[in-house]
Amino acid sequence: MQDLFPFESYRKGQDSFIKVVRTALKHKKDVLAQVPTGVGKTVSTLAPALQYAMENDKTVVFLTSKHTHHKIAIDTLREIKNKSGIKFQVADFIGKRWMCPRQDISNLNSREFIEFCRSVVENKECDFYQNYYSKERIFTNKILIEELEGSILHVEELVDKCRNAEVCSFEAAAFLAKKAKVIIVDYFHMLNPGTRERFFKKIGKELENCILIWDEAHNLPSRARDLMSESINTLSMDSSVREASKFDQDLEPSIVKIRDKLLNLSSKLGLEKNEFLISRKDFSEVSDELINKIHKTANSVIEEERRSYLNTLAHFLSLWKLEDKRYSRILRRSFTKTGKPVINLLYNCLDPSIVLESILKGAHSNIFMSGTLYPLTMYEEIFGLDLPLKVEYPNPFPEENRLDLVIPAISTKFDQRNGQMYERIADSVSELIDIIKGNKIFFFPSYAIMEKTKELIKENILVETQGMDKSSREMILKKFISMKDKGCTLFAISSGSFGESIDLVGDNLKAVIIVGVPFAKNDLEVKEIIRYYDEKFGKGMEYGYIMPAFTAIMQNAGRCIRSETDKGVIVYLDERYAWSNYRKNFPEYVKLKGAKSYDEVKEFLEG
Ligand code: SF4
Repeated sequence: MQDLFPFESYRKGQDSFIKVVRTALKHKKDVLAQVPTGVGKTVSTLAPALQYAMENDKTVVFLTSKHTHHKIAIDTLREIKNKSGIKFQVADFIGKRWMCPRQDISNLNSREFIEFCRSVVENKECDFYQNYYSKERIFTNKILIEELEGSILHVEELVDKCRNAEVCSFEAAAFLAKKAKVIIVDYFHMLNPGTRERFFKKIGKELENCILIWDEAHNLPSRARDLMSESINTLSMDSSVREASKFDQDLEPSIVKIRDKLLNLSSKLGLEKNEFLISRKDFSEVSDELINKIHKTANSVIEEERRSYLNTLAHFLSLWKLEDKRYSRILRRSFTKTGKPVINLLYNCLDPSIVLESILKGAHSNIFMSGTLYPLTMYEEIFGLDLPLKVEYPNPFPEENRLDLVIPAISTKFDQRNGQMYERIADSVSELIDIIKGNKIFFFPSYAIMEKTKELIKENILVETQGMDKSSREMILKKFISMKDKGCTLFAISSGSFGESIDLVGDNLKAVIIVGVPFAKNDLEVKEIIRYYDEKFGKGMEYGYIMPAFTAIMQNAGRCIRSETDKGVIVYLDERYAWSNYRKNFPEYVKLKGAKSYDEVKEFLEG
């Protein structure tokens, strides 16, 4: 079969990466690849994987952690199809809730939606679903499916077409997936064992015949941990009591007892102490019989009200019964926006390899790639890989186009955060805003530090807000780009909405300034991960605390240089970046330079 690589020539490192992918597929091996922006990692994996899949009756599953990455994969596949002239089917999925064309589901979270969807399908109450399978619409549906089959569609295009035709877009995409050679899905579809099983059953495929490409795989540890973690709190318990009182009064006393137990536990929290570790026995030991009863009542609640807190409670209680050292149990007090205390009980997964184990054993090959999969040995251990092919490529862009400048003028270290330090941070930020004439983004380690800095500076700036939704994010980006000639400043959070996956080519972004070091809040959740990795690998601080911060730093820095002709400055604004024990955490291609004055930024950009 012809080579499906669609371009005339290879970029630096690209031909080598393609060879590695081919070797891995041939020998059913896994790959860990650090591939910086500019090498073209999407086409370097999709082209050889698709070719192998077509020759060996396999399916390529391209997994992304962000909605924005679907488009890159779709564009690449269109390019491959156009250049090769070969026909192949593609199916693009995001979470079912986000694909659903119904308008009455906006207040449901993902789990509630799944229950709701199941219920309306079983009770024949979903017109979109009924329409899709209706014999009376066989002719119009056939025309729609032919249209969908004829092109490689982005999931949003598919949803639009299905909404217009008043049929369920998930069912249509699942139909396409049965014949597809490439399926694009969110991590969630593979990481959640139940969802994976249902998904494969629905599309008639098997994991063993799939080549999995994990894009932006640096996000995988936290996504896998989040997915396997569960929690309840006093607010959700109040709602559970209300549901029990309305739907099953016999059940109500048992739910009240569980809520009271949770409230009683909080008496151990002092004025200063907001969290502590607890044991399985400290909280309710609930019988399987009661859990089943809660679950049964939850089903009635879902049928009438579409969502059920009892359902989440039943799930939490069945997990709580398990004795698994790869989880931690934390009782924590948090506060609502109005200052009301909330008691949370967390059952947190510490080990992402729990979910990856069966995937690694089952799939034909797994290709894990990212521009910041560094160091590879850490990911090899964390993922639980068995002798993968490991490759890393240097940054392909001209070194002289990028200035990595350390300015040790401030520190966001916890013990140095005081009024004087905030004044110094604000001074440095103001000076940099003044010097850098084009667009620039300041990444802060937390909202608190960002807010304090903002209060002290006079400039007009765009600001990322907590819990910002997709449309607000896009609006800010649009405004930011539109102001590039005048020069605009954006304040954002290192691990927030703008920290990765935004593409600001050319003059759209001239400088990135990383204010402080974005370590996670050193709370019990983080301490438990550190303890776990210490016991497992003897590298708790490195794997659980330091490297996640440096991954965020490298992602932030990566926003600045997106093409061969981009020229930009990355400022590391904290004294710790000048220390050797911090510098050693940067990949080799980052050539840190100590700044003598702020003017070096100006000279570089104007030179
Ligand atoms: S069957 Fe389809 S249209 Fe109906 S609720 Fe489920 S996803 Fe939405």
